Amino acid sequence: MDYIRTFNGGGSGSLCKLHIWERTGAPPSQRQATPIGAVVLRFTIYDVLTTYISLAPSCEGDSTFVVESVTAFGPREKKLPHMQSDYLAFQSLSQQLAKMVQSDPKVSIQALVDLLCSYQGLFVDRCSTCERVLSAEGHVPPVGRIWVSDRGGGVGIENSTDDNSEGNGSTRGGTGSEITIEGASRNEDTGHGRTRWKKKIGGRWDPRHVTCMHG
Ligand SMILES: [Zn+2]
Repeated sequence: MDYIRTFNGGGSGSLCKLHIWERTGAPPSQRQATPIGAVVLRFTIYDVLTTYISLAPSCEGDSTFVVESVTAFGPREKKLPHMQSDYLAFQSLSQQLAKMVQSDPKVSIQALVDLLCSYQGLFVDRCSTCERVLSAEGHVPPVGRIWVSDRGGGVGIENSTDDNSEGNGSTRGGTGSEITIEGASRNEDTGHGRTRWKKKIGGRWDPRHVTCMHG
């Protein structure tokens, strides 16, 4: 889990933290609720949100993980990963994250965490479409995200031309116990022109209300 260590040690006084989540205090019988081999990460932004990222071993039989689900909660909610937030804003955020993971089931954890970091200003950032913090309908903050590339200036959602350069992050030690987290080691996508959102560099996630995403 080198990535987690690097992430938290990244300095810059980041408010974002990533940890492996373990259900503490539960009787052993209940711990079995987690499928064997599955891992849950807890990603928090101080005073903004808590998210749980459920990972399952990749069915390709190597030591990689795929993102199964992501759920978001308020920073002070005491919930388990499979539960639902009491707040509309976080329910909406969970739905939005679920959609993004579904659109790219092999998204790398790094790409997902980069996206989650963009929620630091969840309750202060204005939607880039309507320039409000809370949406006119429903009064939810901008939980949607649109990738804006620095190059070209326009709102560029990159349609991927398959690139397989993602796998270069695996520096496996000889210990055998090390877990390599990476996204698609093989890209079987036949390129239906779907929006890809991994390997995002040279741009930023722009906040949007869900209702403003297609406006
Ligand atoms: Zn808006």
